[in-house]
Amino acid sequence: MDIRVRKIYEALFALEDLRELYRHALPTGLDEHEEEQFLNGIARVDSIIRELKEGKGDPIQDVGVGLELRTREEEFININPIQPGGRLTPEARKALIAYGDGYSVCDQCLEGRLEKIRKPPVDEFHAELADFVGMDEARVVPGARRGFQAVTSSLLEKGDIVIVSDLAHYTEFLAVEIAGGVIKEVSSGPKHIITGGAVADTIERVKEETGKLPKLIMLEHFDYSYGNEHEVEGVGKVAKEYGIPFLYNGAYSVGVMPVNGKQIGADFVVGSGHKSMAAVAPSGILATTDEWAPTVFRSSHTVGDISGRSFENKEPEMLGCTLMGGTVLSMMASFPTVKERVKSWDEEVKKSNYFIREFLRIERNKVASEYPRKHTLSKVNTRESFDKIAKTHKRRGFFLSDELKNKKIVGEFAGSTRVWKLNTYGLSWDRIKYLSDAFIEIADKYGLAVR
Ligand SMILES: *Cc1c(COP(=O)(O)O)cnc(C)c1O
Repeated sequence: MDIRVRKIYEALFALEDLRELYRHALPTGLDEHEEEQFLNGIARVDSIIRELKEGKGDPIQDVGVGLELRTREEEFININPIQPGGRLTPEARKALIAYGDGYSVCDQCLEGRLEKIRKPPVDEFHAELADFVGMDEARVVPGARRGFQAVTSSLLEKGDIVIVSDLAHYTEFLAVEIAGGVIKEVSSGPKHIITGGAVADTIERVKEETGKLPKLIMLEHFDYSYGNEHEVEGVGKVAKEYGIPFLYNGAYSVGVMPVNGKQIGADFVVGSGHKSMAAVAPSGILATTDEWAPTVFRSSHTVGDISGRSFENKEPEMLGCTLMGGTVLSMMASFPTVKERVKSWDEEVKKSNYFIREFLRIERNKVASEYPRKHTLSKVNTRESFDKIAKTHKRRGFFLSDELKNKKIVGEFAGSTRVWKLNTYGLSWDRIKYLSDAFIEIADKYGLAVR
């Protein structure tokens, strides 16, 4: 553990305690007792800062209520497959400090609608979001999954068919299920890539078998399993030809690479804030066209039978408001960085390929994803290399995680040495090289040949 990191946390917490004084004092100022607490608090911060400078003292372990500190982004290189794109920017972490209170976005809500709040500029953010993904209208939602749900719930009747990939994320299944829909999968074939042709074939098959057309096509640009790129533009064309609405699932793309929904031929673009937009969970976006907005973002029309009340101003699919505090503020705070970082996607892919190339120098290491890589999420196969070592190692499959952890690398599925995933998104070149060398050193140590 790194004493400095621990002391930084301790100082942050000590400052929070100081802040807390002001949440209880009279607005006119601190009384005598509080003033004394304040001075004691300052002294505490001082002494922590001194320890921070000197790099000594007791390292704190938890937040103070039995919650362990989370230091993997500070003390380790984190290659977890789902986490890197959701790592907060410093701006988001600061926004979280300032806007962590419950309904903190609602201080000046004049119209009862989240996306119309001007202070903080949530309205502007929404307009920019739609533009960012090349669509007409956008809403923030509690995760990509809630974006799928809003669409399936708006478009499907019981028994309606939805086309998804055989690599579709489970949340797509659930969003279809909850709306009473029926899943038909498209095969990604031996290459694990969904093509426009395969989608067209599946539509034809559905037509033949059921006499009707699917009501919706959902496809991820990059799937969660291989991180392979699927032919979203080809699928967009097929969707247009058949007149079937197309939901582009950008959980692994919106926020890390440029995405233009209309160019792709999408009717809906869904993104994940905590997966790819450097935001607090649960957060995400749902964007659509002027054609579909009145359907998915329609107004409530229910009237109370006794009170006669109705809420036309509210959108049922959003259940009124969605992200009312730290979540949306974190998205907004990260947004300037996110808009910039998508321009560096090529560099991220370069680093991903550099790592995989080095990784493949270890004899019998394989990459199960398409190669060269087009994404930073990759599935690797180490059955014939690291797993052979695991067979006789006293720690079995855990030996690799142990070795990586010794080198301050975490995030791979502990105990997995066969087929597993990692994500290099956001790692600097120095970290990428360190990571590559770490695997090669481990291979060396266990006598695996390195080319
Ligand atoms: C992570 C993921 C999701 C779910 O995203 P949430 O924002 O957590 O709801 C959906 N689809 C794919 C392809 C994903 O990788």
